[in-house]
Amino acid sequence: MNTWLNISPDSDFSIHNLPFGIFSVDGGLKRVGVAIGDFVIDLKIAHSLGVFTKMEIDQEVFAREYLNDFIALGKPVTNQIRIKLQQHLSDNSSPLKNSDALVPMDKVTMHLPVKVGDYTDFYSSIEHATNVGKMFRDPENALLPNWKHLPVGYHGRASSIVVSGVDIHRPKGQTKPPEGDPVYGPSQRMDFELEMAFIVGKSTELGDQISTGNAMDHIFGMVLFNDWSARDIQKWEYVPLGPFLGKSFASSISPWVVTMEALEPFKVAGPEQDPPVLDYLKTDGELNYDLNLSVEIEPEGSEPTVVSNSNFKYMYWNMAQQLAHHTVNGCNVNIGDMMASGTISGKSPDSYGSMLELSWAGKNPVKLNDGSERKFLNDGDTVTMKGHCEKDGKRVGFGEVRSKLLPAK
Ligand code: MN
Repeated sequence: MNTWLNISPDSDFSIHNLPFGIFSVDGGLKRVGVAIGDFVIDLKIAHSLGVFTKMEIDQEVFAREYLNDFIALGKPVTNQIRIKLQQHLSDNSSPLKNSDALVPMDKVTMHLPVKVGDYTDFYSSIEHATNVGKMFRDPENALLPNWKHLPVGYHGRASSIVVSGVDIHRPKGQTKPPEGDPVYGPSQRMDFELEMAFIVGKSTELGDQISTGNAMDHIFGMVLFNDWSARDIQKWEYVPLGPFLGKSFASSISPWVVTMEALEPFKVAGPEQDPPVLDYLKTDGELNYDLNLSVEIEPEGSEPTVVSNSNFKYMYWNMAQQLAHHTVNGCNVNIGDMMASGTISGKSPDSYGSMLELSWAGKNPVKLNDGSERKFLNDGDTVTMKGHCEKDGKRVGFGEVRSKLLPAK
């Protein structure tokens, strides 16, 4: 598949990708767009040019503030839109060529792609769960007894999910010094978590279950997810009910939603699950994705340093198992719900997905290119996460989620 557009071979937004997002130009109305190379295709204008003829789509669905109504058209329609765009982008006589529908990417502002009703965060990387267990509990028995039997998760806070580019203030809260009474103040252990999140594309009714076999049909696409974490607040508050204010102050996502169809060629087998899982968690076929991930820290006024290179294929629990487990009790899910993977760490220390692990709870500071060191994040640090798949000359990527840590308010 070739296109008449000039696209760099290292662009995340090849003709094989075509992710969906919400954009605006010069403070104008928000609308639905598709990324291709250095351009955004305005789908409302593309529709008016006849790109989606015979599809009987109400063009107002492309003029909404969020993708939720677009996603609600269903995969048969949204997939067809992607295929039509691929056909037009490879057809020299397409009315898209040289049209107003192509907006230069450097002219657009990207917005939160979906209205997130509910957000769940899993804990599905065995390397991450083992590292945290070793640091905080027992080096000999790092995983808790339930971990290999179910995808552990907790209900997060949807209201504080923000898009790439929105800066984050260091949170204040209650922490407990090793000696003495609890104190109140800015977190001293600010961290990122390298995660991926999937977006629910098909709602269920209260009482319904989603089987592992049907799960992928309920997933529209994915984004990069930085689950900001205040480790000192988290450590003091988390017993016995789990994460709360150490997590809920912010999570940042990349603006382009890459569809599961675009990610299909990059499926790989996951790690073997031993002991075997219960029947409702059994899956067939390859459900992990070979997706390269990286994290950079850029101190204020300095150059960036890559501090982690990880891969989404390491996940012990896959998304089908997460969604099946989430709904096994009849919990309903809605279009736009976001479900994050949990921190994605690999086996080697340079593939750990959080400062907590990279600096081993502050014991081994991480060296940056400018000569400075980090145990956790400093005010003024910009954290950038990137992710892409590449195979047989096809590249499908997520762009980035990039946000700066500002001092506490
Ligand atoms: Mn997390």
